[in-house]
Amino acid sequence: MQVPVRILVVEDEPAIAETILYALRKEGFDCLNVTLGREALAQIEAGEFALAIFDVGLPDCNGFDLYRQLRQFSEIPVMFLTARADEVDRIVGLEMGADDYVTKPFSPREVAARVKVILRRAALSGSRPEKEQPRQSPTFRIDDAANRIYFAEQAIALTRYEYHLLRTLLEHPDHIFSRDALMQRIWVAPDHSMERTVDAHVKTLRAKLRELLGGDDPIETHRGIGYSWKRKQ
Ligand code: CA
Repeated sequence: MQVPVRILVVEDEPAIAETILYALRKEGFDCLNVTLGREALAQIEAGEFALAIFDVGLPDCNGFDLYRQLRQFSEIPVMFLTARADEVDRIVGLEMGADDYVTKPFSPREVAARVKVILRRAALSGSRPEKEQPRQSPTFRIDDAANRIYFAEQAIALTRYEYHLLRTLLEHPDHIFSRDALMQRIWVAPDHSMERTVDAHVKTLRAKLRELLGGDDPIETHRGIGYSWKRKQ
């Protein structure tokens, strides 16, 4: 029998913790919930956790301080839970070197899917990923000023939406974007009825990339969730 992978969920809101634990347990993970930063550090020091999920706002500290303390002695992957845009900026700026984040409110399925992506990535690299990941694949180059993206220094012919889609995905490898998240970032007047539009643009973008990459498809579809850019192994 396989030993279940253990995940530590550091979250002080019982309803949120329960939702996450339920979703992760359904996927076969063994989970423990603690509500305080100091408990989290003690657990990670003592136990065998493959990954930790940190709420940013904890009763005894914030998730960022907790993360810094954790990194003094452990390299386990960390995913942040956050409700605030300014916190997302800090995490995305990779000031923290975190492995991923989700914003509240989130779907438990999304959390479980991201956890699986992080664990797969960690397993492939033999340990947790390097802190200084390149923000984009070296073969693609984004020229913000010109609104163009180059592959092997050749400009790719993209429509406006394809450009923004590709740019968003390239800049966040392995990050799963829901259709709604892509719409909010890219479309001028996002509307729920437009989710199919996102799919349509992903489809045409995919066709162009396949042609460029000799049939490779770097965009991963996460059923019922959204899309991500596959980081090159
Ligand atoms: Ca909290």
